[in-house]
Amino acid sequence: MQDCIFCKIISGTIAAKKIHETEDIIVVADIAPKAPIHYLIIPKKHIQDIRFCNQDDQKMLGNILLAAQYLALNMLNGSEFKLVSNNGKSVGQSVFHIHIHFLSGGGNYLTNAAI
Ligand code: AMP
Ligand code: ZN
Repeated sequence: MQDCIFCKIISGTIAAKKIHETEDIIVVADIAPKAPIHYLIIPKKHIQDIRFCNQDDQKMLGNILLAAQYLALNMLNGSEFKLVSNNGKSVGQSVFHIHIHFLSGGGNYLTNAAI
């Protein structure tokens, strides 16, 4: 998608701090972190949000959780973490390319619904 920030990060047009990458997923540091550790798990396929996924996306959707597990176990020494996903403008989505927020490191903001 031409005007999509996350597609531009995936293609390398826009720079981002890449944390992890697999065949179908990229993980980058959020540019405006709301927790000491705030990563974005972003599928490489452009899909607006979870509502627009279909059966073909089953493997990728599972790989999102496996990426979260990888981050926690292999990069963050087994840290506890929270996943947040905004699906639609009215619930706080601002980039309309499917992604999951990975939050860790403690603090009050981890119990705050607004990410
Ligand atoms: P959401 O509001 O759920 O759509 O989340 C979008 C997230 O993308 C926000 O937390 C932004 O801070 C983050 N973001 C926007 N632009 C960039 C960028 N260029 N690099 C990294 N994170 C970004
Ligand atoms: Zn996109």
